[in-house]
Amino acid sequence: MRLIFLGAPGSGKGTLGEMVSRATGFPRVSTGDLLRKAVREGAPVGRKAEAIMKAGGLVDDATVTELVRDRIAAPDCLGGYILDGYPRTIAQARAVEAIDPVRPEIVLDLAVGEETIVNRLSGRRVCPACGAVFHVTGMPPKTAGVCDVCGGELVQRPDDAPSTVRERLRVYREATAPLEDYYRGKSTYRAVDGEGYAEDVYARIAAVMAGEGHPL
Ligand code: ADP
Repeated sequence: MRLIFLGAPGSGKGTLGEMVSRATGFPRVSTGDLLRKAVREGAPVGRKAEAIMKAGGLVDDATVTELVRDRIAAPDCLGGYILDGYPRTIAQARAVEAIDPVRPEIVLDLAVGEETIVNRLSGRRVCPACGAVFHVTGMPPKTAGVCDVCGGELVQRPDDAPSTVRERLRVYREATAPLEDYYRGKSTYRAVDGEGYAEDVYARIAAVMAGEGHPL
């Protein structure tokens, strides 16, 4: 099974992808996380991607596809995997179909309004040490500024600054919205209301998956 999470930045792909990953045991493959790791480690890919990410642009298709190709070849992806943040362009969608052509696929498109997106991204805080994600009002840590999981200091992602958020949304509309049209034409496409609490969105996803014969 290949589960693809579609949706704008801030639509909840990471949060919901993680919840579905825990339920299914399928690893969540996030190109954003893979790229941020490459940046942290000073890998060549990271050096190339850092400025692009900070400006809210898209890293080139070949680079991110290479990351995905390597990751989904790992043994833990054999039974299935969850893609979060990839594909983001039609070229990337075709690339993953070519890399792994026989796998059944379900596309979950998280629909959220622009106001929700801006609110979620501007309030998002992340733990650079362990990757946990919080929100100052929606999902606050027990102690402000401190990670519940590992005690690390929470920070705002550089690309969650308001000016970059606007550019990410523009890029999303330009490059990724056409991808929704591409998937909408397929029988495996499911739109899911992404508004509200993560638990409620999860229940909607669980209902879709059950309807597809894959209860969570
Ligand atoms: P979000 O979905 O909230 O924008 P991500 O963590 O998925 O956050 O991505 C952060 C940044 O990483 C993107 O703005 C982009 O620069 C880069 N990136 C992630 N995935 C891709 C991809 N599939 N193609 C191109 N660039 C990507």
